[in-house]
Amino acid sequence: MHLKSLVLKGFKSFADRSALTLEPGITAVVGPNGSGKSNISDAVLWVLGERNAKHLRGQAMEDVIFAGSSARRAAGLAEVDLVLDNSDGTLPVDYDEVAITRRMYRSGESEYLINGTVARRMDVLDILHDSGLGTGTHSIISQGSLDSILQSKPEDRRALIEEAAGTLKHKQRKAKSERKLAQMDQHLARVRDVTAEVERQLKPLERKAKRARTYIGLSAELSDLKLKLAVDDLRQLQEKHAAATAREEAVAAELEAKRAEISAAEAAVETLQEKIRQEGASAGELTRQHRQASGAVERIESAELVMRERKRAATSRAGELSVSLEANAARTKTAQADLDAANAQLASVQAERAQAEEKVSRLAADHADVTSRRAETEKRATELGRASRDLESRINSARA
Ligand code: ATP
Repeated sequence: MHLKSLVLKGFKSFADRSALTLEPGITAVVGPNGSGKSNISDAVLWVLGERNAKHLRGQAMEDVIFAGSSARRAAGLAEVDLVLDNSDGTLPVDYDEVAITRRMYRSGESEYLINGTVARRMDVLDILHDSGLGTGTHSIISQGSLDSILQSKPEDRRALIEEAAGTLKHKQRKAKSERKLAQMDQHLARVRDVTAEVERQLKPLERKAKRARTYIGLSAELSDLKLKLAVDDLRQLQEKHAAATAREEAVAAELEAKRAEISAAEAAVETLQEKIRQEGASAGELTRQHRQASGAVERIESAELVMRERKRAATSRAGELSVSLEANAARTKTAQADLDAANAQLASVQAERAQAEEKVSRLAADHADVTSRRAETEKRATELGRASRDLESRINSARA
């Protein structure tokens, strides 16, 4: 690899495009003082990415742009093209020639190109890095400093020669590698510490994990059992609810039948009252007994009302039970108890009714008895009348 050409345009004293073609080997630039020799080496530094204006012998970076002269105006742009022969493949690109361009405008904008393609400064530095051409690795000995170099201490001179020979990059790499190694050692020590700590924690963690796995298994089993129980409870509640509904319907039917019986009993009582009224016998007694019977009927009716109310309450509770079957086992029991109580009440009402019916039949028997006694009395009265009339006629015949 060698520097093939350098083209300057608007760079420092090179207002016009100036192209330098270089051959392998030593190239010398000769000229009078102030003719711009150092500007050529500045151009090399600049195009390779120099950022420090002072290294380019200026105050600000804009100083690299041609500043104008009495004969011509200042340039608006400085541009340097540096072409490297890469036929030996030193640079890590697939080109035999690598052209690096740097441009800078008065506005301060700056750009790099690699083989005509816009690139970043970093790309330029990356390409050059491995070849020993990066900023700081090439060696430009400024005017006047050669003397001081020749007189410098052997160690300083050695550093300079090393830099020029390109060993600096290897030293830098070595230092970098050593830093990395030291870092790796630190990381390794940390990893060892962490590994030891993790290994120390591993046993209790394994125990915990085992316990956790057992817990998860048991939890799943528990959930399954709970679900089965809940399904079972639900089924039982549904059965109970169906049974309660059936019982309720049976009680309603029974109630209806009892109501019909009560109506029939009322009709019978009415008929008896009518008969008693017609026959006019034992009216006071019958009226009293009728009042008693009516009282019994009223009690039956009020008991029936209570029954109806309880039935309504039981029905509403059964409705509530159907809404929340899962949680109402207790309520169903209460409703069942109420239903049982209602059944007990019904039984007691039935008993009362049976008593009332018995009373009614006793009254009917009494009535029949009274009626027959009255007929007997009337018959005897008729017989007595006839006997008395017989007696009177016998007395009248005796008198005659
Ligand atoms: P010497 O051997 O005396 O150091 P030299 O040949 O190395 O001289 P340089 O120092 O490279 O010459 O060039 C200096 C010349 O470049 C000066 O005349 C200076 O005016 C001119 N110069 C530097 N910067 C600019 C610029 N931005 N615009 C115009 N001319 C410039």
